[in-house]
Amino acid sequence: MNKKHKTLRRYRTEWWGLILGLLLIGSLLGLDLYNAYQETLQTAQARLLHNLNIVEINLSRRMQSTSSALDVVREEIQAGKTNPSAMNPRLSAMVAAQAGVRTMAWIDAKGTVVASNRRELVGQNFRNSERYTIIRQTADPGVLHLSAPYVTSLGNYSMSIGKMVQGPQGRFDGYVLAILDAEYFSVLMESILYAPDVHAGLIHSDGQLIFRAPDLEKVVGVNLAARPDSLFNRFVKSGKDKDVISGMAAATQVERMVAFTFIRPLNVKSDKALVASIDRNLSVVLAPWVRDLELRASLFALIAGVTIFGLYLYQRRHLAFELLEQQQEDERLAMEKRILQINADLENMVQQRTAELEKANASLRHLSRHDVLTGLSNRMAANERIHSEFMRMKRTGSRYAVLMLDVDFFKRINDTYGHEAGDHVLKRISDVLKSCLRASDFVARYGGEEFLVLLPDTPLEAATQVAEKIRQALARSTDPIAGVTTMSIGLVVASPEHHDENVAVNEADARLYQAKKTGRNCVVAA
Ligand code: GH3
Ligand code: MG
Ligand code: MG
Repeated sequence: MNKKHKTLRRYRTEWWGLILGLLLIGSLLGLDLYNAYQETLQTAQARLLHNLNIVEINLSRRMQSTSSALDVVREEIQAGKTNPSAMNPRLSAMVAAQAGVRTMAWIDAKGTVVASNRRELVGQNFRNSERYTIIRQTADPGVLHLSAPYVTSLGNYSMSIGKMVQGPQGRFDGYVLAILDAEYFSVLMESILYAPDVHAGLIHSDGQLIFRAPDLEKVVGVNLAARPDSLFNRFVKSGKDKDVISGMAAATQVERMVAFTFIRPLNVKSDKALVASIDRNLSVVLAPWVRDLELRASLFALIAGVTIFGLYLYQRRHLAFELLEQQQEDERLAMEKRILQINADLENMVQQRTAELEKANASLRHLSRHDVLTGLSNRMAANERIHSEFMRMKRTGSRYAVLMLDVDFFKRINDTYGHEAGDHVLKRISDVLKSCLRASDFVARYGGEEFLVLLPDTPLEAATQVAEKIRQALARSTDPIAGVTTMSIGLVVASPEHHDENVAVNEADARLYQAKKTGRNCVVAA
């Protein structure tokens, strides 16, 4: 139980370790990916800004030079050194010298074209145009006017830049104008499209998209200021001159990273400005990073999968092994218990058998030393007792009496009443003997109808009295079948001078023989 608990705790620790390890690897990978993400964005931003700067520098210089060309024309007009017919070819030459400038014109205070490289415009009146109104109202010769974009007869968006001509007393006296067409921007802007997803655009500061390359979505002409969520609006609101903004492009509905910058002619105050933009599709910019992300994510998933599955397999095998070990241990314990039980059973059996054997031995011992018929000690026991009494006498000097007793005419009883009656008489005689003796005395059936009595520590006189007592007790009793039976008794007191125990026995036997000869039913003592 305890071991199982410990194992489970170990497994839990291993799982926590793995999870923490995976979390650590995961966070390191995540941190690295985050840095790579930031770096990718920064690199893309830097590159966008670098190209945007090229556009800015070039365009602002070109606007500056167009502005300077207008200044030259205006000065000639203000100096009064020119007339319309001389001005036309002059303007033609200037237009030819400036790529992207399509038209130059001189418009008088009433709005009528005085001179232009395009003769068909001469004499037309633009008094109602927005441009005329603004320049007249502003009445500032220092301001470069950028018109709102408009669609030309060729279908391109175009724009004009104009400057007021000053009359006497500095009053409004018409204006000079350069009309730009798409080519004015397109060559430059297309030259910076360094990747297929790069777009370059030009926006009037009022919000209208004048130019876009490439314009696959046909969004030129859209007013970005009118869309509150446009990236252009976000840029304008930021108040910065130059910024990189990422997000959903309002016109194309694609996530883009856009670099914006205001473009104004150098050294000239202009009423409006242009905003150049260069952008990239954010998903394309991030594509290599996304590939990196996918690669690392799969690698991480692989590591996580392999380690998780590996740990699972390892723990499963370990658990199976432990269970097997436990099972073996249980079996071993059960076997041990069984062996102990068997041992205990064997021990019990042995004890039981030993007891039985001891009992059998005891009864054997008893049988070997007792007479079956009378229950008295037998001859073997008598000989042992005689020996021990003799040894005691030798040691202590205490004498013992030996009585040899023989039933008179016993054969006759057998012959007359049968053997069974004889047996019965023998049993009765043994009872008589026992009743006449003390517990310390000894009596044995020494032969067929012969008995031996030992009286320890008994002198001749006392022994003779005992013998007489026996003889009389028997003679007084009557057997229901055999009637009166008598016994002859030979008596001797053993002496320490005897050289062995048989001396006294033989002498008692001799006295018995004497008693028989003397007439039986008597005691003969030595
Ligand atoms: P005596 O007076 O000279 O001793 O005459 P006796 O007849 O007693 O002497 P004897 O030795 O001739 O006879 C002994 C008889 O005792 C012989 C034998 O059959 C009998 N006897 C010995 N043992 C047993 C016994 O265990 N049972 C019975 N019934 N008779 C026995
Ligand atoms: Mg006899
Ligand atoms: Mg006899």
